[in-house]
Amino acid sequence: MATFIVLLGPPGVGKGTQARILAEAKKLAHISSGDLFRENIKNKTELGNHAREFIDKGELVPDDVTIGMIRERLNRPDCKAGAILDGFPRTPVQAMALEKMLADFNGQISAVPYITAPEEVLVGRIGGRWTCRLHGHVYHQMFNPPMKAGVCDIDDSELYQREDDKVETVTMRIRVYLEQTIPLVEYYRKTGKLVEIDGTKPVELVSKDLCSAVSK
Ligand code: AMP
Repeated sequence: MATFIVLLGPPGVGKGTQARILAEAKKLAHISSGDLFRENIKNKTELGNHAREFIDKGELVPDDVTIGMIRERLNRPDCKAGAILDGFPRTPVQAMALEKMLADFNGQISAVPYITAPEEVLVGRIGGRWTCRLHGHVYHQMFNPPMKAGVCDIDDSELYQREDDKVETVTMRIRVYLEQTIPLVEYYRKTGKLVEIDGTKPVELVSKDLCSAVSK
């Protein structure tokens, strides 16, 4: 049976970075809904143009669009053994849709790590975040700077600040998270699969906690 890990946590808590590390350690695909949207925006697809209207304002993209995009992604061969889901589901409707999709794929959610940090930490982290244009590798000007300013260590591409990482939008994203995604935390807590992880620790320590939490 395919194994899926749903990574929960507020914007800026380090979900993307941790999802990449975990996917590599567990040899599972990494599915980031945010990265998929950004790829569509970069390629100027119809889905990308539609999603951009919501993303730039810090709002969630409508459920039907998001669910359709994830369904298509889960159908690709690299998800046969399972995947780390980063940024999806984000609403109860998406969580229900995921249950149905996994039933079709003979998959199951094995763990739901929930990475947390206080709001002031999140705002500080997002404000200094730089993202690589080619593959979305993430850096922070204070906590995880690239070796050469403005250039990705891994693929040499240019680093940029995401439109939705600007201070005005960040507050909105955190509000949206509290309203729409927090109910999911309670939903997964009831399933007994939720494991809380302290996201204020350094990256390596968070990934150590995360790896042991999903191995239990
Ligand atoms: P992220 O990179 O996960 O912070 O996502 C960036 C933006 O993409 C979010 O602020 C939303 O506008 C949109 N987005 C990503 N995932 C979802 C989702 N599961 N449902 C709706 N919108 C999403």
